[in-house]
Amino acid sequence: MTWAPLLRLQEALGPQAELMIVGGAVRDELLGRPHADWDLATKLLPQAVMERARTAGLKVIPTGLQHGTVTVILEDRPVEVTTFRSDGDYLDGRRPESVRLGVDLIEDLSRRDFTINAMALPVGGGDLVDPFGGRTDLAARVIRAVGDPLQRFGEDGLRTLRACRFASQLGFEVEPATLAAIPQRLGVARKVAVERVFTELDKLLRGAEPQRGLDLLAQSGLLDLWLPELRPMLGCGQNRHHRHDVWVHTLEVVRLVPAESGLRWAALLHDAGKPGTRSIGPDGEIHFYGHEDYSLEIAEWILERLRASHALRKEVAALVRHHGTHPTEAWGGPACRRFLGRLVEEGLPLDQWAAFGLADHLAKGLDLEARLVEHDRMLSRLGALAAARPPLALRDLALDGGALMKLADRPGGPWLGELQRRLLEAVLDDPAINTPERLAELAQRNLPNN
Ligand code: ATP
Ligand code: MG
Repeated sequence: MTWAPLLRLQEALGPQAELMIVGGAVRDELLGRPHADWDLATKLLPQAVMERARTAGLKVIPTGLQHGTVTVILEDRPVEVTTFRSDGDYLDGRRPESVRLGVDLIEDLSRRDFTINAMALPVGGGDLVDPFGGRTDLAARVIRAVGDPLQRFGEDGLRTLRACRFASQLGFEVEPATLAAIPQRLGVARKVAVERVFTELDKLLRGAEPQRGLDLLAQSGLLDLWLPELRPMLGCGQNRHHRHDVWVHTLEVVRLVPAESGLRWAALLHDAGKPGTRSIGPDGEIHFYGHEDYSLEIAEWILERLRASHALRKEVAALVRHHGTHPTEAWGGPACRRFLGRLVEEGLPLDQWAAFGLADHLAKGLDLEARLVEHDRMLSRLGALAAARPPLALRDLALDGGALMKLADRPGGPWLGELQRRLLEAVLDDPAINTPERLAELAQRNLPNN
């Protein structure tokens, strides 16, 4: 089960080191799940880890000595080795005031958040150390706090979010007493730094069962701390095109889109504007006029507040903005090319937009077969048009800005942009005219008079 280079480290540190694989690595190994890193723990103090590893010719970086952590490079991979430690008092709901090194393994395991994260496996071989029943909880697919959940969530509010995130990633239930403790600890959860909140929400969204994690956020009240704009989606009834209310539909879209940040965040936020734009027409039909724009606004507030990256915000905005566009048979070539041009302008690949659209359709929960056929037909049409590589953006024009200035014999200015847009419109209508000669001709006719 262990990774061979770990044995080399074990040899370097000696048998007294009690080198253990701990935390997420043990959990994921037992589940047969891939994991990004190996978390190791040892009885040795950091100085001794550094000395012995260096003596054995290993590269060592003192990354977090005050927390007992040393990073050892094994076959070009950084591996964190942390001295068994216990946490001092938690005064701010975020991190302990102090940590105490040199405790025993069981005490180290007892500070960890959930039973499934509180097991240790000796690197050199030997029995699993599992003082809190983590293995049983893994088999039962349960997330259970180590010790009293009220106390554990009171120490560190991040754990409440981690519970929901693991539920999503692993498809596990949160054990009832653990879940029941979250609403009572929202005051502590509120103090978690926004960057960590974003990281947890992002992992939750990219999990295998994101609908489970989102449902837990809503049930426990965590949703109201970080995504309060979404609460009105729960129970917001829709019209005859939908089987589900806005929230249930949203969870379905999140589940159905590929597990990438941009798609998952866009799925979560794409209909956030619906409750606020809901109206009932004279015929009794329910409408959500302008909800795409309002959803876009809400998405931008939320992602800005959570300090999401510019790239993510841009991708989500493009997906939300265009989620209501449904090219139909009735659209001619020019309309399709204009739409493709918008996607190019916003840097949104066609297949990304299509993956989102398909999930959104299917999540309506009605006429699935017909929706699939319609989607395929529309996508192959757009795909065929795009494959012909028609000019779709200003940079595709057969005459660039320099050529147009020369032609007009005047320096650049607002006239140039205007002219380029006109040329692009003409080229979108008929790609065949995108030659230097024909564009020059057209430009001559459209040059400003003075
Ligand atoms: P992943 O790496 O997938 O995020 P993980 O369980 O490995 O999951 P890490 O943040 O890497 O999580 O932490 C490693 C281990 O440290 C955890 O498995 C857990 O034992 C412990 N741990 C991490 N964060 C906390 C916390 N906030 N409170 C208590 N223990 C924690
Ligand atoms: Mg980890």
